[in-house]
Amino acid sequence: MAELNAFDMAQRQFDEVADQLNLEAGVRAVLRWPLREFHFRIPVRMDDGSLKVFDGFRVQHNDARGPAKGGIRFAGNETIDTVRALATWMTWKCAVADIPLGGGKGGVIVDPSTLSVPEKERLCRGWVDQMWKNIGPRADVPAPDVGTTPQMMGWMMDEYSKLSGAFTPGVITGKPLGGGGSLGRTEATGYGVIYTVREAMKVLKIKSKGARAAIHGFGNVGQYAAIGFIEMLGGKVVCVGCWDRHDRKAYTYSKESGVDPKFLMSITDEYGTIDKAKAKKAGYVLEDANAWIAKDVDVLIPAAIEGVLTGETVKKIHKNVKIVAEGANGPTTPEADAVLKKRGIFNIPDFLCNAGGVTCSYFESVQNDMNFYWSKDEVLTKLDQKMTAAFHGVLEMSKTKKVYMRNAAYMVAIDRVNKAMKLRGWV
Ligand code: NAD
Repeated sequence: MAELNAFDMAQRQFDEVADQLNLEAGVRAVLRWPLREFHFRIPVRMDDGSLKVFDGFRVQHNDARGPAKGGIRFAGNETIDTVRALATWMTWKCAVADIPLGGGKGGVIVDPSTLSVPEKERLCRGWVDQMWKNIGPRADVPAPDVGTTPQMMGWMMDEYSKLSGAFTPGVITGKPLGGGGSLGRTEATGYGVIYTVREAMKVLKIKSKGARAAIHGFGNVGQYAAIGFIEMLGGKVVCVGCWDRHDRKAYTYSKESGVDPKFLMSITDEYGTIDKAKAKKAGYVLEDANAWIAKDVDVLIPAAIEGVLTGETVKKIHKNVKIVAEGANGPTTPEADAVLKKRGIFNIPDFLCNAGGVTCSYFESVQNDMNFYWSKDEVLTKLDQKMTAAFHGVLEMSKTKKVYMRNAAYMVAIDRVNKAMKLRGWV
């Protein structure tokens, strides 16, 4: 199989819908590629006295509807094309959630687990030193993503505030509580996934109590999706997939009687690796990386990385699966998508399903601007309203145009971004 290129995937998805919409050639040319890209080097003094240089990126795909918005990923396999894809999906995500923001994404080629805490801090500050003139509350607002944490956002906010000469919490979201962060941000993406699953179950007339799910990934999204599926819907999660950074391979942690996400969280390190020995002792069965795909469940929730449902792996999906809820960005390749469509599996596309994170980030910016902070209940109630409205907006489009949910989500998003560009006289 040719190596997956996430940006190629993002462009293929866009092209399919642009064709269906008969989108004007000029508009298509603007939206197919990011408006701005920054590639830079970040010199960092390591603890042993040596100087190491890291490759950094920031891509601003489109900011017609508002400041660019999107996380910064620290990953050993980061590439400019991954960042381009994620920035593009952020444009569609903010538009589909109907929040007044555009799409951006950043990254550094680094495995953060190889760095000490002071080295991480110097790298975070170094990223801001290179980018600070091109980000800001009214220009581009980064956030955490895979491999970055609230603490890192705190350092970045501090560096920006020092360089710009003013305390500026609104430059970055996902900050720690007490440092300008919002209550509910930790749960937001995973719970948001579950709000959309709940709505899909109502539409498909699936009883949520006792429903079964398999989750891929046990980081921020996977953990709160698991808790939400059990606590909000009364369902059972039969496995979680997870990368083991010591073995450098992935496993599926299964328990037919239902996994206990809070226990698993207590034995998971900050990089999302579960302690295998403790899991086995507690009755979890360790299966191979793709075992989660083949489980007899109602809902599959890919919530780890892109490109896990491919033309090959999609064949393993059990006949009882009714919903694929994409917690991760870009987990389904176009080949796998074709199979899901054909089998009539209901898809909640990534930039709708996982929009809870950016929606709560937007709430965080609003609270920073007002310097007035909401209770967790208030945040989660507003989040639920936004996610539910976004889900039904896409469903409506899917029914009206008789198209698959992913295409419908693209239609809603492209229409909103196109309108904003027209209103501003860009196209
Ligand atoms: P995270 O770093 O907290 O966790 C990632 C999880 O995926 C970990 O459990 C890790 O072990 C697992 N993983 C990594 N590689 C794997 C592999 N090859 N096989 C199996 N498991 C693997 O990341 P996260 O914040 O939970 O993000 C997960 C996905 O959701 C990403 O695609 C991210 O872009 C997307 N997302 C995250 C947010 C957010 O707010 N955190 C918002 C929107 C989208």
